[in-house]
Amino acid sequence: SVALTGCGRADTGAEPEGSGAAPEAGFAADATIGVALPDRTSENWVLAGDLFTNGLEEAGFTGNVQYAGSSNSVGDQQQQIQSMISAGAEVIIIGAADTAQLATQLEAADAADITVIAYDRLIQDSELVDYYVAFDNFHVGELQAQSLLEGLEAQHGDVDTWNIELFSGSADDSNSAVFFDGAMSVLQPKIDDGTLNIVSGQTTVQQTATEDWAAENAQNRMDTILQSSYEGQDLHGVLSPNDNLARAILTSVQGAGRDVPVVTGQDSEVESVQSIVAGVQYSTIYKDTRALVAASIEMAQALQAGEEPTTTGTQDNGAFEVPSNLLEPVIVTQENAAEAYADNEDLAPLTEG
Ligand code: BGC
Repeated sequence: SVALTGCGRADTGAEPEGSGAAPEAGFAADATIGVALPDRTSENWVLAGDLFTNGLEEAGFTGNVQYAGSSNSVGDQQQQIQSMISAGAEVIIIGAADTAQLATQLEAADAADITVIAYDRLIQDSELVDYYVAFDNFHVGELQAQSLLEGLEAQHGDVDTWNIELFSGSADDSNSAVFFDGAMSVLQPKIDDGTLNIVSGQTTVQQTATEDWAAENAQNRMDTILQSSYEGQDLHGVLSPNDNLARAILTSVQGAGRDVPVVTGQDSEVESVQSIVAGVQYSTIYKDTRALVAASIEMAQALQAGEEPTTTGTQDNGAFEVPSNLLEPVIVTQENAAEAYADNEDLAPLTEG
């Protein structure tokens, strides 16, 4: 499905020596680039749509940006990708609604010689994913866990054992396990040595999953855990995989009349940044959507020019090591919010005064 000869990056020896010729263009400069995004389950997806529409136009491409709806997101997305293939797209950039349900569409894209770029979420168990562009999501989980421990030390340094609960994302998103595994790589030793106590006993990615990344599911699960496991006990911290769920967890805890625990997040959503500045939510992750969209469009431009796109390494999707461009996430707390968002005109004003 890669329109280039020799997809290995180390393959430069294949060029006849001293040819000096510019590489042949991969496809027309105004080619159609399809972008298939999932349901708008968090602000990053909302931002990505506009950024792709504008960025592809600026780059001279014909953009075709589609979102899956919430009621039939997998079916919607499968159909949208099929339409992009029929319409002659050269590249399809996919933020998968379900990272395990695109096999038929990837086969069809491959047959039509279309390059498939997985965006943010790595499509699983297929050799027909050409590239992956995302933030380093394992590192996101590590950073979330480190900030949880820091917050616990700062706010409950006098307590011997910290009572915490764990939340993970939707099981149909391959990122959910990656965030969780990254976090557990930091938390597990502290569970083992008794520093942390997960009072509900729910410690696996399955037990802690939040279907569809839906806030109400996280709020309900937190309500249930508080009622069943926390009578007469304090809740000191919660690992939340993103901001939308963090706010739902805080709503539950505050609704139960309890003190605000240390709660992590991700995405730097406006309401959560405000909450962090106000000292309620403890942390979030900054994954600058502008940078991720720009990196994706740069990949399309390289392919258009007949060049190999920039990659930083590979990521295993269960079938093979997918050539990947991974960007660095940033942890944000009240302490560094102004600095972290200094170059973001939407978020910087929220950190002033
Ligand atoms: C993204 C997160 C987002 C979540 C829910 C994940 O795949 O990486 O940034 O919070 O989906 O939309």
